[in-house]
Amino acid sequence: MKKLVVITGASSGFGMEMAKQFSADGHPLLLLARRVEKMEALNLKDTMCRKVDVTDAKAFENAVREAEALYGQTDLLVNNAGVMLLGNIESQDPLEWKKMLDVNVMGVMNGMQIVMKDMKERKSGTIINLSSIAGKQPFGNHAAYCASKYGVTGLTAVARAEMSPHNVRVLSICPGAVSTELLGHTTDQGIIDGYNEWKETVGAINITASDVAATIKYAYDLPQAVSLREIIITDTMQDA
Ligand code: NDP
Repeated sequence: MKKLVVITGASSGFGMEMAKQFSADGHPLLLLARRVEKMEALNLKDTMCRKVDVTDAKAFENAVREAEALYGQTDLLVNNAGVMLLGNIESQDPLEWKKMLDVNVMGVMNGMQIVMKDMKERKSGTIINLSSIAGKQPFGNHAAYCASKYGVTGLTAVARAEMSPHNVRVLSICPGAVSTELLGHTTDQGIIDGYNEWKETVGAINITASDVAATIKYAYDLPQAVSLREIIITDTMQDA
């Protein structure tokens, strides 16, 4: 059997596509998200699905240890779970800022802390964090989302430097706009409409979640000695 892959946010979008692709390649999986039924419905072989909120560090760790007892130690953790609640600072409910920072930043750090020690001791392993192009450059109405994703870019770079002497890869992937459920959680309909209109107008509508998943898998499948440190991936027609 191949090595254990842990994917957070596997109930939709990139995470669900990664689950399908890593499973098709023979990896045992631990899939985490709150909508466990969506992950179970994939019916993937050698796959444990657990209802876990990534902000709950204890529940996150318990699920990882349970899967490791069955499938061996985690070789890849993809910290993919995330939320995007667009809005501007002047009017957005601060609870939405908090939610993004909790899930997108604290959730990622929780995952890293759970697997880093073992990976360091083994001198092997890979952590891939989902940042965003919004973790590299600013976009209107993205203040708190940018704050969270710049945070992911930054903390990943620090961890990369800390883990490099131990032969552990820590990568960040920064996708541009890709159609998934992500935008649907924004509460301001005007912002949703404007975002969709921009995508349609520039023609940035053809890249898929499956393309992003395949890129992440490509980075993982390279030899342990090769670190694709940071990947920016967008639709060819995305103009920003
Ligand atoms: P989706 O909304 O389709 O998927 C997000 C996933 O995260 C879902 O499975 C959701 O599951 C899970 N999730 C959300 N909150 C939590 C939580 N508290 N605990 C556990 N799981 C949670 O979005 P994408 O697939 O598009 O996004 C995946 C990642 O990629 C995110 O980090 C996003 O910021 C990033 N990204 C996406 C881009 C895009 O354009 N699509 C562009 C750049 C980056 P559930 O609700 O069942 O818990």
